[in-house]
Amino acid sequence: MTIERLLYYWLAFFGIILCRYFFISGVVYWYFYIDNRWPKVRSQSLRSKPAHWKLIRKDMELSVGASVLFALCAATITLASDSGFTLLYQSIDRYGWGYLIFSYVISLIIQDTYFYFLHRAFHHPRWFRLMHQGHHRSGDPTPWTSFAFDPLEVIMQAVFLIAIVYIIPLHFFVMIALLLTMTIWSVWNHLGYELFSSKFPHHWLSRWFIGPTHHAIHHRRHHLHYGLYFTVWDRIMGTHDPLYDDDFTEALNGQRSSSVD
Ligand SMILES: [Zn+2]
Ligand SMILES: [Zn+2]
Repeated sequence: MTIERLLYYWLAFFGIILCRYFFISGVVYWYFYIDNRWPKVRSQSLRSKPAHWKLIRKDMELSVGASVLFALCAATITLASDSGFTLLYQSIDRYGWGYLIFSYVISLIIQDTYFYFLHRAFHHPRWFRLMHQGHHRSGDPTPWTSFAFDPLEVIMQAVFLIAIVYIIPLHFFVMIALLLTMTIWSVWNHLGYELFSSKFPHHWLSRWFIGPTHHAIHHRRHHLHYGLYFTVWDRIMGTHDPLYDDDFTEALNGQRSSSVD
């Protein structure tokens, strides 16, 4: 009975997660890489060479595998929630709107912290090939890279999702919002185009929130920029590129284009 329900949930989540990946990454890829009608956006490509179909197909294969495992994680959480084992709740009145917003923000902060240190560990020579090489196979990322993770990396990422529902009470809406934020932010980080001017780092938004250039730098220089949502841990831990705060283009190329007095 439990196995049947687990299989039922797994199949449902697998379909949802896979469709979500192909739909969002597909639409964004088509919009920016095939139908890109804006010369200004085209000129702000972060790629060193055109996207290659062979590498995109590799990203897709890894993403299908990631969908299998994330669906298993979602099915396990749902089954545990049905049995009352998690802190997931359904009535907003239980803790109020203030807590709802707080729980969303604190979950993002915890996930960002977990991801930063996990990601740094993945780049240790001992773990890289086993756990994180697949994500970096494409060199310069595309939206298809946003969900391309090796199976062991997926398991380690899923640990956060399984643990968080036992650590803090989360409304179902907050859980869905968290998953949507992960998806959209990951596609944004792997967009391969910068939509803001090269001087945008001066803006507080770009100073504290990770975007396409910030993450593209990580894909070129693996010792920098391990964060997921916020630049805070990179700044604290000394893995933030100092050039990034002055000019996107200079930071991406790893050198200043003109002399600085
Ligand atoms: Zn990495
Ligand atoms: Zn990446």
